[in-house]
Amino acid sequence: MSTRRPNQGRLLVLGLDGASFNVLDPLGASGRLPHLTAWRSAGSSGALESTVPPMSFPAWSTFMTGLDPGQHGIFDFTEKVPGAYRVRFVNATHRRGESLFARVSGAGLTSLVLGMPATFPPEPIRGLLVSGFDSPVSAGSDSRSASDPGLYRNLTERVGPWMAQDLDQRAREDGWHERAAEGLLARIERKTAFAVEALEQLEARGSRPDVGVVVFSESDTVCHHFWRDHDPRSPRHDPSASLQRRDAIASVFERLDQACGEIRRAFGEDAPCVVMSDHGARGAGRHVVHLGRHLWDCGWLQRARPRSQPLSLDRIARGARDGALALLSPRAAEKIFRRTRSTAARLESIARFGGIDWGRTVAFAEEVNTQPGVWINLRGREAEGCVAPADYERVRQGVIDSLLGWKLPDGQAAIARARPREEVYDGPCVERAPDIVVELATDHGYGLSLVHTPWASEDTASIRRLDDAELGGGRGRGMNGTHRPDGIWIAHGGAECLDAQPGMQLRDAVPRFLEALGIPHELEAIERAAHHPNAASDYTHDEEDLVAKRLRDLGYLE
Ligand SMILES: [Zn+2]
Repeated sequence: MSTRRPNQGRLLVLGLDGASFNVLDPLGASGRLPHLTAWRSAGSSGALESTVPPMSFPAWSTFMTGLDPGQHGIFDFTEKVPGAYRVRFVNATHRRGESLFARVSGAGLTSLVLGMPATFPPEPIRGLLVSGFDSPVSAGSDSRSASDPGLYRNLTERVGPWMAQDLDQRAREDGWHERAAEGLLARIERKTAFAVEALEQLEARGSRPDVGVVVFSESDTVCHHFWRDHDPRSPRHDPSASLQRRDAIASVFERLDQACGEIRRAFGEDAPCVVMSDHGARGAGRHVVHLGRHLWDCGWLQRARPRSQPLSLDRIARGARDGALALLSPRAAEKIFRRTRSTAARLESIARFGGIDWGRTVAFAEEVNTQPGVWINLRGREAEGCVAPADYERVRQGVIDSLLGWKLPDGQAAIARARPREEVYDGPCVERAPDIVVELATDHGYGLSLVHTPWASEDTASIRRLDDAELGGGRGRGMNGTHRPDGIWIAHGGAECLDAQPGMQLRDAVPRFLEALGIPHELEAIERAAHHPNAASDYTHDEEDLVAKRLRDLGYLE
């Protein structure tokens, strides 16, 4: 008779986007996280280092491939089109490297993967994959987000969609925060019910998942919008916040702890379980920084003369985009977007690159908080490049020096690190990253927010202290909670190979999972897979508009 336990060789991974121990520790100590606390004390836990930048797209792509961004090629929600002053929205087909789920399928095992960012369009796997929050669907998930549309439809008939229509996260009228906090709790319940039902239906079909991966993004959303209410020391703290607002982060994590317990019971409690995050979170400081304006102050960037362009293209583009989003209902905005010939990527491109005098601009920035960086306007590479290749290194070092000399009003550095991209990344996709990879400093422990330079106002400074009325966040203000590199890893009930190790990084997860599952995992095989890129396919214009709108609603795009 076999002594093999029924759940040996199985694995459950619960992803809590943006979770960090600085949130979990005090909640655990006050008894609000019974499952996670028990698993930590009986198992093993430690910090998990994220990618550079510590953002959901590159981080989850690293998590699922075991490759760094320089190898898998996903650095942000968007990427600059080579040789052009344009961006495109990226999806899973722009990634190099085989996913964990493809490897698991290849080994004849079944997976259930729910909510993983950067997996749209869904790849075919044994089992079911439903893509994450970045799926280009208007009213929540639908069967296009699922690798098995028929099974997905069966599930939604029983428990509703994986993800329903989001709250309008741009709305800021009275009571919005209280409703949003409620909405996040409801979303967690819906996703939990979906996960449990999916496990049951797969089992009923005779294909019980060997691997379960369920990712919740509510942990990240709540930290972005409620950090200042949760943290009385936050420089953005609002002492008049309601109890519901002050407790929003705690309530969401408490509910996530329950979700972890329920999903684990449904999956099989004696199967090894890892609870992890793609990056951590902390509060944002009171200062916002305008990287483009700093480059202008230092003479690296020149603006086109206002006389020839009384209303610059970038302002028109931003106005059109924001007008449509602010004035119309989500459905009406979507209809307009479908009719207009200006796609989201075109508007986004003009907003980032418009109004620049390329003939006299040496270095420029996209000014996105999700991937801070500076491009050199290199001749022969950029459409209107003016920096001679022979001058590239000297110019790049000069720009790095002026980034490191950029100071907050109290004399502290605004930039923690500014490095040539090849010092940060290694692999075939390094050239998708900006020439200089920038990491913003913190202001007394609170993160700076990088936002677009408001070029229209003549007296803009490169660093601005927010007024009291702006501390909640929103366009031009950043969000009041920001990402940090330290995520979490909690392993319980598994083999030693899953134990937390000091200095552990996201890319270490795949080899450990494969080992726990008994799937051969030579690193060379991972490298080899990276040399067979997927056939990249861009979003349709409609899909792109929907993705852009979702990212904007979440506060990731301005
Ligand atoms: Zn994330």
